[in-house]
Amino acid sequence: MKKNENKKEEHRRPKCRRCGRYGAVITKYNLYYCRHCFREIAEKMGFKKYS
Ligand SMILES: [Zn+2]
Repeated sequence: MKKNENKKEEHRRPKCRRCGRYGAVITKYNLYYCRHCFREIAEKMGFKKYS
């Protein structure tokens, strides 16, 4: 039962294209990065939002 539910979740949930995590993935602006990766990328891109 739980296995099936998880499989459905995997298909429905967006996956981080950097680390492959299914956590809090940001799909806005077609980013598809989890919060962790987005933070690193944002820093590289010059965003100071999290600093
Ligand atoms: Zn990630």
